[in-house]
Amino acid sequence: MTSDATRVVHEGRRPADFQGVVNTPVFRASTVLSSTVAEWNHKKKVRAQEQPGTYYGRHGTPTTHTFQDAMAALEGGARTLVFPSGLAACACAILAFVQTGDHVLISDSAYDPTRRLAAGVLKRFGVTTTFYDPCVGAGIAELITPKTRLVYTESPGSHTFEVQDIDQLAEIAHKHGAVVAMDNTWATPLYFKPFEHGVDISVQAATKYIVGHSDAMLGTVTVTQALWPQLKSTAYDLGQIAGPDDCYLAARGLRTLAVRLRQHWENGMQLAEWIAHQPEVERVLHPALPSDPGHALWKRDFKGASGLFAVQLKPTAAQAFESLIDGLELYGIGASWGGFESLVLPINPADHRAVTTWKSDGPMFRVHAGLEDVNDLIADMHAGFQRLRALA
Ligand SMILES: *Cc1c(COP(=O)(O)O)cnc(C)c1O
Repeated sequence: MTSDATRVVHEGRRPADFQGVVNTPVFRASTVLSSTVAEWNHKKKVRAQEQPGTYYGRHGTPTTHTFQDAMAALEGGARTLVFPSGLAACACAILAFVQTGDHVLISDSAYDPTRRLAAGVLKRFGVTTTFYDPCVGAGIAELITPKTRLVYTESPGSHTFEVQDIDQLAEIAHKHGAVVAMDNTWATPLYFKPFEHGVDISVQAATKYIVGHSDAMLGTVTVTQALWPQLKSTAYDLGQIAGPDDCYLAARGLRTLAVRLRQHWENGMQLAEWIAHQPEVERVLHPALPSDPGHALWKRDFKGASGLFAVQLKPTAAQAFESLIDGLELYGIGASWGGFESLVLPINPADHRAVTTWKSDGPMFRVHAGLEDVNDLIADMHAGFQRLRALA
């Protein structure tokens, strides 16, 4: 299986193990019975570490393992663990690999709740954090101290979409004995291959494109073989496991990811290009647009773009901005993204910065291009800009 389009269809499925049933069924389990003491002892010893198999629901069931196996294959890492949300995955991707006295570097453009974890929980346990400018490039070397254990990155960045040179970042981090964790949610494992670029720990908010239907919360952490025991034991000690129904939905979502994502990419590009041409727009933040500062790196490293981007308007009345957004018929206003439906969300990146500033004189919003007909999406947005014009 060399093509991802083929892999998403087949990886992790074992119909022969389930009477020929195509999708691994939902196994709901806490207790898993053994018929003898010897079997119990064997399961406990061997199966706690190894998939497939389980001796207790907290280690997952075949439903969980199907999804994990498929994700490991797609991300290109050795093993994957599921978590009950994307944020739980982000948290464990850091917590599993640091201890008191350690220092971590986190991109200043990273997802805000991950930044909160650093400022709160990590600090409380004596792990210090320095946020770094996502555009720092090779300058990251100067921020690394003898205590730096982990560099946490997200590319493109949440809300602002800066693209980072991950190969360079990983090379520098490794030279100084630090591991690299990356939130790879925007690109999904189909459009960015973290382990080919030196990443050691890859995080997915599977809630987004992998579940793909806005109906479950889930996260994954994928690691190299060397880091697996540490990840597995920490997640176990913290009692982390996701429900089988959610894992089933994620595995089912995964089977159509390649075709869905192609359409999100296409719709997002057309929409971004159309929006960029409106006179009220200061700029569109989308790395696949040739005008974007991250375009060259995106082109070098990514296999595609998802449907998520941001728009910065020229200064306008709050009422005019709200009228654009409020009257949209096809775009819901709400958190999260990656489902089949289009979304918009007012954002203010300046609120989530520690060492860099984000200057925007006009209001900003984030767009998730869904799977609707793009002409309808553009027409709805066109009506929105007409409302804005009438009130500006
Ligand atoms: C949504 C998101 C998360 C968190 O995922 P949840 O499932 O909502 O907890 C983490 N990282 C990024 C980049 C996200 O967009």
